[in-house]
Amino acid sequence: MTFERRDTRQVMVGNVPVGAGAPISVQSMTTTKTHDVDGTLAQIYGLAGAGADIVRVTCNTVEAAQGIAEIMPRSPVPIVADIHYQYRLALAAIEAGVSALRLNPGNIRKEQHIKAVAKAAGDAGIPIRIGVNAGSLDKDLLAKYGGPVPEALVESAMTEVRYFDDVGFHDVKISVKHSNVPLMVDSYRLLADTTDYPLHLGVTEAGPPPGGLIKSVAGIATLLNEGIGDTIRFSLTADPVEEAKAGKQLLEYLGLRERTGLDLIACPSCGRAEVDVIAVAQEANDRLEELDLPIQVAVMGCVVNGPGEAREADLGLAAGRGRGHLFIKGEVVRVVPEEDMVEALVTEAKLLAEEGVEARLAAKDASAATIAMEERVELLSVQGDANRAAERKAAVADVATSGTD
Ligand code: SF4
Repeated sequence: MTFERRDTRQVMVGNVPVGAGAPISVQSMTTTKTHDVDGTLAQIYGLAGAGADIVRVTCNTVEAAQGIAEIMPRSPVPIVADIHYQYRLALAAIEAGVSALRLNPGNIRKEQHIKAVAKAAGDAGIPIRIGVNAGSLDKDLLAKYGGPVPEALVESAMTEVRYFDDVGFHDVKISVKHSNVPLMVDSYRLLADTTDYPLHLGVTEAGPPPGGLIKSVAGIATLLNEGIGDTIRFSLTADPVEEAKAGKQLLEYLGLRERTGLDLIACPSCGRAEVDVIAVAQEANDRLEELDLPIQVAVMGCVVNGPGEAREADLGLAAGRGRGHLFIKGEVVRVVPEEDMVEALVTEAKLLAEEGVEARLAAKDASAATIAMEERVELLSVQGDANRAAERKAAVADVATSGTD
């Protein structure tokens, strides 16, 4: 499913376009001290590997700005310098060759300072994100509106835009982050109605997973589904690699980014399960994730419903009585002892990624389908048919043929 994207201007963060129909990019931020060049670069590489297209680093000291000068030539992705309070550090980051800046209008408030930064960014040809944050909103706006309501956040951003306009600077993207999901959503909706600059989405201070993940998905996905948003960041209290992964996965799940890695699906388990589905799914996920194969793999708790319910998956595993049934596109290709089933799944996943579906279906074990059918029938006779197919068909026939004309 595709959503009609909001029409926006475009900015370039290094070589990554943002806005005007460009692929939605994923951002994250390092947690290292930026003057620790090697430590910061190691984290940047980790974030890029997990799916981040753009990485932000803090620029809070002269040493941090000097660190950026060393990081820039070695970074695999564009770098954004995060600036609070000291506009001179924004000028220093530009001098260091950074790809973009993030300014917080709540804590760099002097008009002449803001304009000086915009002028320098314009001369350097780099964009600025106006990063409004409900938690650090200008005190005058808080007093005017009585709190960090959407109108206050948008006014903060648009005041900054006007300062930029005054010096002819239009290389801008904007965020209006809030930690309250409904207010975050309303702030971005209002902003999207007010300006055509590209938007950076995020729920600020979302907290640790799983709550932080849920809040971020609720806010970001709601807006993406309305066509609003050009670049995203999950602000999690967690290893930033989790942020980058979550951002990438959200875009993949929404069909906004082509899947490049594993998609493991699993049934929620129920009384029919023949194995501990949670443990098997976790083990399979851990083993397969490190291979990073671009396939969808299903782990299902029973052979009665598993292969059918997961027939869209490239590869699947369903648990029988002491055995694992491996299936490709719903067709059972191998039946293996339970203790070997995760290993067999991993082996088949590698072969599937190398050889493709047709070749692996052609290489199936000839007796697998018969064994699978016998086991399925046996389990149905023991557990009963959860779908009550036969009973339902009889009832349907009854209804269709009974009664009077
Ligand atoms: S696949 Fe089997 S074990 Fe899993 S939820 Fe469905 S019926 Fe239950």
